[in-house]
Amino acid sequence: MSGYQSHFNNNRGKEQMKLTILGSGYFIPTKDRNSSGYLLEIGGESILLDSGSGILRQLIRSGHFIWEIQKIFYSHFHIDHTADLPPILFTRKYSKPDSCDERELSIFAHPDFNKFIETFENLYGQWINNPDYPYKFHPIMPGEYSFDTFDISVFKGNHTDQSLMFRFKDKVGKSLIYTGDTGFSDALIEASQNASVLLIECSSSDSNPVDGHMTPSELSTLIHESRPELTLLTHISPETDYETLIDKINVPSGCEIKMAEDFLTIDI
Ligand SMILES: [Zn+2]
Ligand SMILES: [Zn+2]
Repeated sequence: MSGYQSHFNNNRGKEQMKLTILGSGYFIPTKDRNSSGYLLEIGGESILLDSGSGILRQLIRSGHFIWEIQKIFYSHFHIDHTADLPPILFTRKYSKPDSCDERELSIFAHPDFNKFIETFENLYGQWINNPDYPYKFHPIMPGEYSFDTFDISVFKGNHTDQSLMFRFKDKVGKSLIYTGDTGFSDALIEASQNASVLLIECSSSDSNPVDGHMTPSELSTLIHESRPELTLLTHISPETDYETLIDKINVPSGCEIKMAEDFLTIDI
């Protein structure tokens, strides 16, 4: 496991935002990179961003456990971002927490995600419903949302009809943007504007661009337009790994760029 303490660390303690990369890979898991999933600790809460296959175990391997999680936000419905939701609910049915701050697990996604939940409810009903620790689906659309200890701006992603991007903001004004899978768009420039951390996919190459995914040259344009303090590249495909992606991205002075690795942690 590797760890990275960035210059953002100013000892704000438990309330400080912290990101743990659980899966930095794309839709085909590799030996070194799990499918998509991230743990965000913000305002004393623990939140999962996507849960591709293997994320439940990655969470445990990172030293955390499922009962810490109070909310899950899904960027879109593709399997590499959602597959571990049934195992997560199954684990909440058949294990008991030593401690649990919030009994209800809140799931946030585009309204159409309801179809996915209904489908596995029909398949697994009694095996995933724990009346003591229920889960609840909250449909969300682009707009502004306020929670007790943080705020979120939600933007439309350029990937599928239901894709969402999230800009999390804590009470001292630090921000993390999670794009999920996305191609370039004006909404992406707006969402990323002066971010503390931009967690963004880069799974396409300039020589072989794929619709709905970012290329190094598009990332160069984005970083110049929106000036995030730290850009963290994720959803890394073997092709982009092989191409030594970071070397191809032009980063202006004052901005920093890193490649995500599974189990990397960033204090924001
Ligand atoms: Zn994906
Ligand atoms: Zn996708």
